[in-house]
Amino acid sequence: MATEPGRSAPRVPLSDLVEELLEHEGPLPIVPAGDPVLRRGTEPFDGQLDPRLLTRFVAALRATMHAAPGVGLAAPQVGVPLRIAVIEDPAPVSDEVRLVRGRVPQPFRVLVNPSYDATGPGRAAFYEGCLSVPGWQAVVARHAEVRLTAFDEHGNAVDEVFDGWPARIVQHETDHLDGLLYLDRAELRSLSSNQAAAELWSQPTPDRAAELLGFTLPS
Ligand code: ZN
Repeated sequence: MATEPGRSAPRVPLSDLVEELLEHEGPLPIVPAGDPVLRRGTEPFDGQLDPRLLTRFVAALRATMHAAPGVGLAAPQVGVPLRIAVIEDPAPVSDEVRLVRGRVPQPFRVLVNPSYDATGPGRAAFYEGCLSVPGWQAVVARHAEVRLTAFDEHGNAVDEVFDGWPARIVQHETDHLDGLLYLDRAELRSLSSNQAAAELWSQPTPDRAAELLGFTLPS
């Protein structure tokens, strides 16, 4: 039976929701764009999952991120509206790309209740994609450097400055927790299928894409 549009589902405790998700072995299904869970925002984590369940949930997020594969995954992307995300990037790229995009390896991190602020006016614009928007990429001009405040999975406070590609990952994942998708911030004229991006726009910078697709890059 169809439910009435606009009527919210009965409130299930988040711990029950997570327990149910973890009943199945293997990577969790990733929620695609169009599902309201990606748009509603999230509850700050405040012990809704006991330490054992949190550990299992984080492990499942990490396994799902690896399987996708991706360099970050936020809890709403597996249908859980909690302010938790994971990031990890082995950065398998050429030296040239590493230098231009600042794509240095980012060890595995759990971000609990993260938020970020720009440390300055600098912007960096590059193609990025999202596991919830499979098959597509677009250029997003993001803060070149951000200060992240968060907690880790053990409750320790984190206050750290990120630049380069890790800064992009931190912004992308934290935005998910606020109900934002990268397309909300993207240059829409840059939108490219993965195939087009690989064939045409694999240069270290999106300058040529900007010229030929007709969008502007930050100066
Ligand atoms: Zn994403």
